[in-house]
Amino acid sequence: SGGMACSRFEYVKNYEQDDSVLPNVWIVIRLDGKGFHKFSKAHDFAKPNDVNALNLMNIAAVTVMEEFRDVILAYGQSDEYSFIFRKETNVFNRRAAKLLTYVTSLFTSAYVFNWNHWMQNKTLHYPPCFDGRVVLYPSDQNLRDYLSWRQADVHINNLYNTAFWNLVLQSGLSNQEAEAELRGTFSADKNELLFTKFGINYNKLPPMFRKGTILLRKRVKISDHDSLNRQLIVPVHDDMIREKFWKDHTELLGKYKPGDYETTFDGLS
Ligand code: ATP
Ligand code: ATP
Ligand code: MG
Ligand code: MG
Ligand code: MG
Ligand code: MG
Repeated sequence: SGGMACSRFEYVKNYEQDDSVLPNVWIVIRLDGKGFHKFSKAHDFAKPNDVNALNLMNIAAVTVMEEFRDVILAYGQSDEYSFIFRKETNVFNRRAAKLLTYVTSLFTSAYVFNWNHWMQNKTLHYPPCFDGRVVLYPSDQNLRDYLSWRQADVHINNLYNTAFWNLVLQSGLSNQEAEAELRGTFSADKNELLFTKFGINYNKLPPMFRKGTILLRKRVKISDHDSLNRQLIVPVHDDMIREKFWKDHTELLGKYKPGDYETTFDGLS
């Protein structure tokens, strides 16, 4: 229809809430797979980490970043992904529901769209879905702490899961026995157990498992003759808790001054 106004029914439009978010704050959208404990079982994911399933998540996130140019960084681990929109973004007039639903549905459809390619045509038994939330962070330090929080989470979970699944798959313990074995242990104990029992140096495991995946936009010169700089979306598996990451990628926070965000927590151990 469109054009001039309209019917006597049109007043119902006024019942829609204005949900545009504050100006000048970081907008973070985090998605998380619903019931992926079950989903990963039903689809026979390798434990503790199915590389293909992680890459499928990464490809779905790249699809979102290709669509939304204002996402400066995305961070994924396990069945979750966070998208960081630049503070000044005006996409959808910063309307929360529009942002959240577009990102969540595009991510989900890209996950399903690319399933066969990344999961070797494994039968998809039911449609996966993802929940989503919008969180606003006023300061750069808040944003960094958010990303540190998610990265600390993958560290804690992955160390536990690696120990757990080695006890189950290598030592033949039951799930309950493995759980009991790990109850009350600290990080150092789990590192020690992995090394002495299974000869695994935890720090040598693939960085994608230990650190998750950070998607960044980078300008890349394709060849020496090429005056053309192409923008690519590049996956890295660096430690965002360390100061170094933010020094290596000063463009992310814009008006970054060295020392402004010095953190006393020197990475993960
Ligand atoms: P926006 O992103 O703003 O929603 P849009 O192109 O989706 O843009 P709508 O106002 O939502 O615009 O209209 C949907 C359009 O999709 C219709 O104008 C029509 O052209 C097309 N369309 C949707 N469903 C059908 C259908 N079953 N058969 C044919 N055309 C359809
Ligand atoms: P909820 O609906 O509350 O999020 P959930 O079952 O999805 O429940 P999460 O805390 O989100 O619980 O954990 C996701 C689970 O999915 C992990 O515990 C892990 O078992 C599984 N999982 C996700 N990705 C992978 C992967 N790449 N390889 C193996 N397992 C995975
Ligand atoms: Mg959840
Ligand atoms: Mg989940
Ligand atoms: Mg999760
Ligand atoms: Mg439409």
